Amino acid sequence: MLRTLIYGARQIVTVTRNNKEKFLCGKDMHAIGVIKSDAGGLSLMIENENIVAIGTDDAIARDFEGMEIDNKIDASGCCILPGFVDAHTHPIWAGDRVHEYAKKLAGATYMEIMREGGGIGFTVEQTKLATDEELLIGLVARLKRMLHAGTTYVECKTGYGLEWPDELRLLKLLEQARSYIPIGISITYCAAHAVPKNKTAEEMTEDIINKQIKALKQLIDNKEIDVNDIDVFCEKGVYDIEQSRRILLAGQQIGLSINFHGDELNYTGSAEMGAEIGARAISHLECISEEGIRAMANAKTFAVILPHTGYILRIEMPPVRKMIDAGVPVALGTDANPNAFSSAMSISMNLACVLCHMSLEEALAAATINSAAALGISDKYGSIEVGKKADLIICRCPSWEHIIYQFGDHTHIIRYVLKHGEVVYAKSA
Ligand SMILES: [Zn+2]
Repeated sequence: MLRTLIYGARQIVTVTRNNKEKFLCGKDMHAIGVIKSDAGGLSLMIENENIVAIGTDDAIARDFEGMEIDNKIDASGCCILPGFVDAHTHPIWAGDRVHEYAKKLAGATYMEIMREGGGIGFTVEQTKLATDEELLIGLVARLKRMLHAGTTYVECKTGYGLEWPDELRLLKLLEQARSYIPIGISITYCAAHAVPKNKTAEEMTEDIINKQIKALKQLIDNKEIDVNDIDVFCEKGVYDIEQSRRILLAGQQIGLSINFHGDELNYTGSAEMGAEIGARAISHLECISEEGIRAMANAKTFAVILPHTGYILRIEMPPVRKMIDAGVPVALGTDANPNAFSSAMSISMNLACVLCHMSLEEALAAATINSAAALGISDKYGSIEVGKKADLIICRCPSWEHIIYQFGDHTHIIRYVLKHGEVVYAKSA
């Protein structure tokens, strides 16, 4: 057994309040658990991959007296937080879209660029031209940036292949990435990310249901690839509400959880439909209706908020305050993709606070326990509790809020990132 002690910390942000909550909603999102030391430091003990004890330095030293400790990490002057969980990313692609960024700054909308053959269509073409090796190198490099920015678990979507076997290639590379980098990966099948050229949305809906999802089932049954969720870009001019429903239900039938893009650029009724069919999460929701908020609150469907995308596209932010007050569990993601190029959850949290009017505590709950719950993994991840996996960030700062407050400066604050109890990033002095 490998025993690791982290000692001397100023604060340990547990997020949950030791009631073993699987997610937080309403007022509880603001009332997160933080252990502070008045005198002396705080310790956290890890055995193999798991957190086994949390307490003052003195108490932990007493409890483990005489026992062998393999590693010791000095966290003097530091705060310990759970590793961030990024609930929405598109990390596998080739060809950046910096040229479109300039167009967007000059006033072009997302859909205008997409209709001109840019946007997702451009990335699909560039991805097709890239070799497996190029795609894998790009993917692992992006995941590494995330890990160094404190993200220890990330949802990764396919979706720049659109058709089989291009989507299959992306699935296989995502699966391979697991052996190159120690970050948790939850794979989401997102062939319905856009409609390929020369195809209609209806043709693609049939193709995805009758061909792609059937082939996917074979791979899952053969244990070749571990896929968790099914996704659709439910949007005016892409997949309509009925096509989306059919694709999502077909995915659900083979055991995938429903986790899709809805009500982003236009109101489509995605929230109502998702709540009705048992979606675990719906992302974006900038144009959600009052009825949609009620439906998601009742069904406890997670709203995955992606403030960086709204910021980059200069669109209205989702009504996050209303969602939280109504009891919708809210989670956060970076939406890392060639449109919204960002991989740091600390930046998403800052934008969520400033642009979506979330409190610092709500933003942290959304980026940890709730984003873990949006991926169905909050029994093991997303908070600091005895029995949970030791996915941790050790930050040198006077109090935990600095990781959000010091906008874009996470590289200066994060000293260590631990995945399953092992140091996977240490800042050079
Ligand atoms: Zn997305």
